[in-house]
Amino acid sequence: MAFIELNHVFKTYSNGVSALADVSLQINKGEFVFIIGESGSGKSTLNKLLYREEKVNKGNVMVGGVNVSKLRNSNVYKLRRKVGVVFQDFKLLPKLTVYENIAYPLETYGLSDTVIREKVLEAVERVGLKDKLRCYPGQLSGGEQQRVCIARAIVNKPKLIVCDEPTGDLDPKMSREIMDVIEEINKEMETTVIMATHDKEIVNRMKKRVVCIHQGVVVSDQEKGKYIEYENN
Ligand code: ADP
Repeated sequence: MAFIELNHVFKTYSNGVSALADVSLQINKGEFVFIIGESGSGKSTLNKLLYREEKVNKGNVMVGGVNVSKLRNSNVYKLRRKVGVVFQDFKLLPKLTVYENIAYPLETYGLSDTVIREKVLEAVERVGLKDKLRCYPGQLSGGEQQRVCIARAIVNKPKLIVCDEPTGDLDPKMSREIMDVIEEINKEMETTVIMATHDKEIVNRMKKRVVCIHQGVVVSDQEKGKYIEYENN
């Protein structure tokens, strides 16, 4: 069985909008996969199913042998500990320092302060932000804030990180730097990366697997793919 499997997944929101229709996808451990498609095509919905922010209506979502679609609400926290999430708008807490933002998700784990500190320092080191630990998010550039978000996502060494337009608010130079950090994490920590993006330059430069979604359906899936603009014929 692949590390991630979507089997005939359907997702319709309560207002009747069909976001995904019969999506099947397999992703192996350690893969780096771009999910592309125009706005509203279902990329974020696919991501949200992986960390159970949303639930399928039909079909199955398996992550690391766990049937996410059948997981009880009371067990969702266990999944979230194994999946790091990186957002376009960072979602950092403005009144907490960089250190506190990264340590925050660990605080419910019952770890000692010493262990938390070790984990936070390892994560900031990896994203190259060691000298900014005492800063507040408002004192950082967009690229630096995104690095904090990545450090927070990897602090518990998840097997999977799910990224939703992580470079959407960054200029091309910062975007490349962020992608280098994520690629290094993928290679060195063997973390599987799934990234929804519109960033044509990045997709074309990285030569990774590219899955294109159009109106909730997977319309292409290419190894070492390029950005494609899918046309409805
Ligand atoms: P993308 O990430 O590709 O822009 P989304 O997954 O966000 O696409 O959205 C897919 C479709 O589902 C769109 O038509 C969107 O309007 C709809 N949608 C997304 N989230 C919700 C929601 N919470 N409630 C109702 N409709 C939603």
